Amino acid sequence: MKKVILISIDGMRPDAFLQCGNPYISTMISEWAYTLSGRTVVPSVTLPCHLSMFYSVPPSRHGITTNDFMPFVCPLNGIFDQLKQAGKTCASFYAWDEMRDLGRPGSVKILGYRNAWLDENSDEVITDMALECMKKDAPDFVFLYLGDTDEKGGHGFGWMSEEYLKYVSVALDCVKKVAETCPEYEIIVTADHGGHDRTHGTESEEDMIIPQFYLCEGLSGGEVLSDVSILDIPPTVAELLGVAAVEEWEGKSVLKK
Ligand SMILES: [Zn+2]
Repeated sequence: MKKVILISIDGMRPDAFLQCGNPYISTMISEWAYTLSGRTVVPSVTLPCHLSMFYSVPPSRHGITTNDFMPFVCPLNGIFDQLKQAGKTCASFYAWDEMRDLGRPGSVKILGYRNAWLDENSDEVITDMALECMKKDAPDFVFLYLGDTDEKGGHGFGWMSEEYLKYVSVALDCVKKVAETCPEYEIIVTADHGGHDRTHGTESEEDMIIPQFYLCEGLSGGEVLSDVSILDIPPTVAELLGVAAVEEWEGKSVLKK
């Protein structure tokens, strides 16, 4: 039975991926399917973008436009809710507590949280927590959030600064570790938004264009995907796991593109 891990690298711009100098980049562009011109949603802010990544609707529909969560006025199932209803097991690992609201209470069976400021390279610590769980409990769907790139790199030193690029490279080391440690998992890697100067949230290309990478059956290595949106992630995950998509989801599975 297929299993899927979704890795979100917060604020990773496509040019940061290309310029960070990590040797694993060449593997990702030859053995994974990918796009360097995917689009996120407005406003290009972390929680609204992640809610769109999980609910496949834009902020104008889910209603969250800041990093403060409010229950949806018109609820719909996100990927966690939909998988749980289909009897699948979900796990979520993050170092930024706002990620607790990406599914309804009870939709995620295994949770791993440790505050990002406790560790210099929090992304590596959270990745190891996720890998331990994947080996031991083998959940059907795992969400792994890597946030040092945004908070410590982008906001701390500026997008495309040397320090930011170093955090992007560490995040790619984490992706490599997941691929090599748990080859039984199909892997999706995405950013939630980009960034410029020491901020993001605007409609500029620097903030709106995101990379996405897929190491999945049904997509060929080196295949360049076009017309990809952050909204496409829930229907893609659902298809990979053999679960029906939600009618209100506005994205489309990248397996059908
Ligand atoms: Zn973010």
